[in-house]
Amino acid sequence: MAAAVKRLFPQAKFGVGPAIDNGFYYDIDIGRPLTPEDLKAIDKEMWKVVNQKAEFIREEMSIEDGIKLFESLGQTYKVELLNDLKTKGTTKVDAEELGDVEPGATKISTYRTGNFVDLCRGPHVAEAKDIGAWKIYRMAAVYWRGKETNPQLQRVYGLCFATAEELEAYEKMLEEAKKRDHKILGPALDLFTFSELVGSGLPLWTPKGTIMRNLLDEFVWSLRSMRGYEKVDIPHITKKELYEVSGHWDKYQNDLFKIKTREGHEFAMKPMNCPHHTQIYARKLWSYRELPQRYANTTMCYRDEQTGELSGLSRVRAFAQDDAHVFCRMSQSKEEFLKIWDIVHEFYAVFGFKLQVRLSRHDAAAPQKYLGDPDKWEKAESMLREIIAEKKVEALDGMGEAAFYGPKLDFMAKDSLGREWQVATIQLDMNMPERFGLTCVNEKGDQETIVMIHAAIMGSIERFLSIAIEHYAGAFPLWLAPVQVAILPVADRHNDFAQALAEEFKAQGIRIEVDDSTESVGKKIRHAEMQKIPVALVVGDKEMESSDLTVRRRGEKDQRLQPKTELLAELKQAIAQRTS
Ligand code: ZN
Repeated sequence: MAAAVKRLFPQAKFGVGPAIDNGFYYDIDIGRPLTPEDLKAIDKEMWKVVNQKAEFIREEMSIEDGIKLFESLGQTYKVELLNDLKTKGTTKVDAEELGDVEPGATKISTYRTGNFVDLCRGPHVAEAKDIGAWKIYRMAAVYWRGKETNPQLQRVYGLCFATAEELEAYEKMLEEAKKRDHKILGPALDLFTFSELVGSGLPLWTPKGTIMRNLLDEFVWSLRSMRGYEKVDIPHITKKELYEVSGHWDKYQNDLFKIKTREGHEFAMKPMNCPHHTQIYARKLWSYRELPQRYANTTMCYRDEQTGELSGLSRVRAFAQDDAHVFCRMSQSKEEFLKIWDIVHEFYAVFGFKLQVRLSRHDAAAPQKYLGDPDKWEKAESMLREIIAEKKVEALDGMGEAAFYGPKLDFMAKDSLGREWQVATIQLDMNMPERFGLTCVNEKGDQETIVMIHAAIMGSIERFLSIAIEHYAGAFPLWLAPVQVAILPVADRHNDFAQALAEEFKAQGIRIEVDDSTESVGKKIRHAEMQKIPVALVVGDKEMESSDLTVRRRGEKDQRLQPKTELLAELKQAIAQRTS
C-alpha cells in the first residue's frame, strides 16, 4: 500500500505502519486529508504493484546509514524514529511507537519493492503476488505519535487475508456486527441513554435496562450465595490515604476522579473496591477458623477515561462491577479459585459463550512494573498453573498481562459472531493484604499474613451488556428479556380483557406489557417484533370466549393456539431454568 501511495503522491511521508489483527494500517502525511476517492485510487494502484510481480528485497544497515538513507528520501518521520532509537537506546524506546524497528537493534532493515524503500523489520512475502486478499476499508485522522502538538497524519486501514473467501467472511461478520451495534440497539430497545448534561461516558439506565442489570446481578449472586459469599456495601469515595496505602494513588494517578472538600481534604471516587473491602476485613482480629471471609458487592466504580477513548458501554467513566473479594490463607486460595472457576463457567454457559482461559503472569524482565517480591509471584503463578492442569484446559500464556499486584486467570468469551471478548477475571493478590497488614491468628497463635482474591464474574455490567446485546442482536432469552410477553388487543373493546389477563401473568412473576394503543393489530405485532419481545398474545373476540390463547413466538412465522395454563407453566419453567 505504501508503495502505491508513493506512486500516487510522490510527496507522501510515512509514519508508522504495523500489521494488526486481520490486516494493517499506515500513518501517512500527504499534506492534506485523504478523500474516499483517494482510497479507491490507492486500492487500484495496489493492484498494479501486485500485477507487476514486484519482489520484496530485504537490506540490512546500521542505524546511521538508515538515517542517511531516509534523510535522502525526505522521510522525516522515519528519521525521527531512527534518531530516537539511536539516542534513547533500547529501554526507553516505546515499542508501539517504533513498531517498525526491533527494540534493541543496532542494525535496521529495509525492504525495497520496485523503486519504493521502506523501513521495516519484516518478515515479508517474497513477492507482491503472494499477498492474499486485501481491502482498504477505513481511515482516521491521527496525530504523529499521539501528541496533539504534532502534525496530523491520515491513518489508512486495510484488511488482509490469505484468501478472498476469508476476507469475504470477515467483511460479512463486520456487516452483521454493525447491525448488532449495542450503541444503536441499546437505545432502540430503550435500555439506556446518554445525556449531554450528565456527560459522556456516563450511561443512564432506563427501567428496562435496569431490569436486565438486576437480573444479571441476581444470577451472579445466586451462584455466589451457594458458595458461602456474603454481601457487603461501601461508600463511593475515600480519603486519599487509603489509596496511598494500596498503591493506587501512585499507579492510577491519572485515572482517579479527585475531590477537594471544603476543609481542604483530598478525596477520590473509587476506581475499584478492593481497598475499601480490606477495611471491612480489618475491623477485627480473625481466627484462622473463621476464614475464608467472602465479600460480594455489586457497586459503581469511576475512572477518568479520556473523552476520545469513550465508546458506548464498552468504555465508560462510571460502571458497576459485580465485585467480590475472598480473604483467606494462602493454603485455602486454590480451593477458593476453583469455586470461582465454577461460578464463571456456570454463568457463561447459560449465554452459550465458549470460554478460553489465559494465565496472565508477570514479566520477569520488567520488575519495576509490579509490587512485591519475585518469590511470591512465582509461588502464586505456579498455583494458577496447577489449577489449569487439574481442569485439563489449554490456557493461553499471558506473559506481562498480570495486574501490578498479582497474577490472574482471565477468561475470554467467543460470541455468536466469533468475536473474542475478555470477560471474567480471577486475581490472586498477595500484596494488598501485606500493605494493609491483614492477618489471621493461626494454629500456633501467631499472626499470619493472609491473601486476597479478586473475582468479578461479569467484569462490569456495562461491558457485559454491551457484549450480550450484540451476541443476541437484542433478542434476549426469555429469562433476561425486560418484557417477556406482549398482549396485543385487536380492538378497544378487548382492552379490559387484556388488562385482566396481564394481571394474571404478572401474578405469576412474568414481565408483561399491554399494547392498548389505537394502532391496528398488524402494527402492534410489528412493534412487538421490533422490540424483540419473546412472546406476543393476540387478544380478540375468539380469545375472550375461550381459555386458549393465540401465541406468537419471536422468530416464528405462524401463531398457534395454546391453553393458558399450559403456556404459563411453559414460560415459568423456561425462566426458572434460564433455558431460552
Ligand atoms: Zn479487587
